[in-house]
Amino acid sequence: MNAQAPRYAWLNGEFVDWDRCVLHARSQGAFWGANVFEGVRGYWDASAGQLRLFRMHDHLLRLRRSMKSVRMELPFHGHEIQDSSLELLRRNEFTTDVHLCIVAYFDSGPQFDPLAPTEHTGLHLTAIAKPRSPAYHRGAAACISSWRRISDDTMPPRIKTGANYHNSRLAQHEAIRNGYDTALLLNQRGTIAEGPGSCLVMVSDGVLVTPPATSGALEGITVATVERLAAEELGMSLVRREIDRTELYGADEAFMCGTLAEIQPLISVDRLPIGDGQPAPITRKLQAIYDTVAREGKGGLPWSLPVYPFPAGNG
Ligand code: PMP
Repeated sequence: MNAQAPRYAWLNGEFVDWDRCVLHARSQGAFWGANVFEGVRGYWDASAGQLRLFRMHDHLLRLRRSMKSVRMELPFHGHEIQDSSLELLRRNEFTTDVHLCIVAYFDSGPQFDPLAPTEHTGLHLTAIAKPRSPAYHRGAAACISSWRRISDDTMPPRIKTGANYHNSRLAQHEAIRNGYDTALLLNQRGTIAEGPGSCLVMVSDGVLVTPPATSGALEGITVATVERLAAEELGMSLVRREIDRTELYGADEAFMCGTLAEIQPLISVDRLPIGDGQPAPITRKLQAIYDTVAREGKGGLPWSLPVYPFPAGNG
């Protein structure tokens, strides 16, 4: 038993002990990563004694879109997934930032054939305490990976399936072995796609630029949040267009963004400093704005879903 593990998980309609949240080794989900999933962050607001899930609705919409593309049906509705997720967080009595994973998987196929179409599907929910990455503060050094990003005509990155993360693992592990914090993957055209688990945004001449989904990036919810907050709070626009490798070398600022990464400054690429090689001002401003909106549920936007009916510890 992992000492860090929370007490409960949720599997196919039941709250179960963490260690009992298991799939059979020969299920298609466990064997070939035949699943679709979402990772959602919960932000702990200590002053209000409240935990808030950020953009849960949008994550559930993306899960539905992934399910459609892999032709998966689930015996659970979105509102059941949401209610069970909230109850799971309450049962585990989290009073920290959390990462909730919602995983819909294909179970064993006929004759245990891992490739056979099957209507046997399942769902598991797990949430863990997830402190912010140290790279949020100090920034990250990235390399351009020798691995190319998967593409829509082979393994569509738009479908958020576990199997896609083999590509991410190859790139991330290579980067770590070579002394970097993370990697950026190019697509088959040689322009930048994204990181192993987050999208890239660069700041050039006062404009935010990010590769479009057609460059091989996931349609990021965090990028969409940044787009809206940058427009409303900083009067800055975000443009989706292809980005060349050497264009990034010359950017004023750059950051990775994703549910887990949040907004993470990129301080160098291929050992070339971005700007002056320090987390830069627009990135820092966006971090602060994002944190306030996500943690305190501010901004008048229907993005935050409170977990506790009363302040935690008092109810
Ligand atoms: N790309 C990949 C490969 C990811 O796994 C993630 C994290 N979900 C992202 C980008 C960022 O997406 P989001 O902002 O929706 O979390």
